[in-house]
Amino acid sequence: MKIRKRIFFTICLTATLFVGIATAHAYTILSAGGFSPVPARIVSYNGFSSSINSAISSACTAWNNAGGGTLVTRSSSTHSNTQFPLKNSANQITHINMGKNKKMMETRLTEVKIVGSVAYNTEVDINVNTAYPWSTTGDPYAYDFQNCFTHELGHLVGLNDENSKSDSTMYSVTSLGETKKRTLAQDDKNGIGVIY
Ligand SMILES: [Zn+2]
Repeated sequence: MKIRKRIFFTICLTATLFVGIATAHAYTILSAGGFSPVPARIVSYNGFSSSINSAISSACTAWNNAGGGTLVTRSSSTHSNTQFPLKNSANQITHINMGKNKKMMETRLTEVKIVGSVAYNTEVDINVNTAYPWSTTGDPYAYDFQNCFTHELGHLVGLNDENSKSDSTMYSVTSLGETKKRTLAQDDKNGIGVIY
């Protein structure tokens, strides 16, 4: 039995200076089927700089090297949409000022397909909140785009926030200048191994 379901589910990164204590806790799964079909094609906002697009491609590469095959690629085309989320069968990255009372990056599962009891992400949109300062160079006074975007792509491929293992990319807290989420931890790869 196939049921097609439209949901708006939000997951995102929280900015804080709090640094958690690493524990032995493992990844958690958001959508057991991951993205379907892979590779997901993500489409950049047409106002992104080449350095932002390069950071997006590098974030894709991190997940494509996680052991589950090629999961996500950046399309060479762009979009001019300023609505988030927008159900239009495209996985779009938008660039909208949501205000500082909202999360810095936000991922929405715009469409999820349920087959039996397994959820598959079939459309995902990600917004970059322009109310926050962004950098592609690890600027200590800004948030590193690739660092945060690699985390958000983890949601696209089916992982949930990890709230106890602070060295993982899916750890849900970040800080100014942080770049360690650019590189997946073994825990993140273990999660991909379960899904794909
Ligand atoms: Zn998250």
